Amino acid sequence: MTMTLRTLISWTAWPVLMILCLTTTAIGFHHGIPVIAFNLTYAALAVTLLILERKMPHEIEWTKPDGQIWSDIFHTLVSKGTVQTLVVFSAVLGLAAYITPMSEPGYGIWPRHWPLWTQVILGVVASEFGLYWAHHTAHKWKPLWRFHAIHHSVKKLWIVNTGRFHFIDSLKSILLGTGILLALGAPMEVITWLAAITAYIGILTHCNVDMKFGWISYVFNTPELHRWHHSKDLREGDKNFGENIMLWDWVFGTWFHEGWRRPPVDIGIKDEMPPRFRDQLAYPFRRPYPSFRQWGPDKPEAAE
Ligand SMILES: [Zn+2]
Ligand SMILES: [Zn+2]
Repeated sequence: MTMTLRTLISWTAWPVLMILCLTTTAIGFHHGIPVIAFNLTYAALAVTLLILERKMPHEIEWTKPDGQIWSDIFHTLVSKGTVQTLVVFSAVLGLAAYITPMSEPGYGIWPRHWPLWTQVILGVVASEFGLYWAHHTAHKWKPLWRFHAIHHSVKKLWIVNTGRFHFIDSLKSILLGTGILLALGAPMEVITWLAAITAYIGILTHCNVDMKFGWISYVFNTPELHRWHHSKDLREGDKNFGENIMLWDWVFGTWFHEGWRRPPVDIGIKDEMPPRFRDQLAYPFRRPYPSFRQWGPDKPEAAE
């Protein structure tokens, strides 16, 4: 690959991929097949990113196997499965009785008369408030950090560990994010759009592709911001909690990016994470839990 081509791709990849994904999703919605369109788009995005990770990696070190591929895949499947099961069995659990009226016209203060695209933007902003605090609390409150530590225990970032979350960790974020929209009375169409956008932005944040962002990182959660979030140093790791957009990080002072230096290659947590999937599922319930000092990615060393 020539340098010019690589530079061109690195500057355009993020916006071009996002625009393509949103366009195919919109076409799917228009033809009444949003779920099929989403799945096809997501698969195409994943394949494109896997190729780019091989052709132009951001970090060569992260292209080496970490022995966690199956664990990453199992966590992704179990997390997605849990959420889908909850949706399918919400009737059995009695949740549908509460949720269905919420997503029908007339409920709540949601501006259903607005054009759909403005409702989707509103949905992203409103749900982000819940997602931000779900994530922030997962870092600051030990009982929740135990679950979130599974995500942060990765030693490299690539698209395969995008969905590596303890299923209870995922469930908590989804309930908070969509809970706000349901309470406000947002229609299902907006919630489906939000799910698609979150999936596209999410897989991009973990991709190990050499991309440039410029102003995009001021607005959206990008790989360059999320790499800081995986730092062992809490001055960098306890920052950039945004899931899709960085609005609430700006409001609460946690937006972090130092463009003049590279984010750390050596990422992860201080604590030892068992390598096997089933031990990782049990990890948050382990007694006694490792010392307080190890409850976050790392504590900043005193006066360096
Ligand atoms: Zn985190
Ligand atoms: Zn991550």
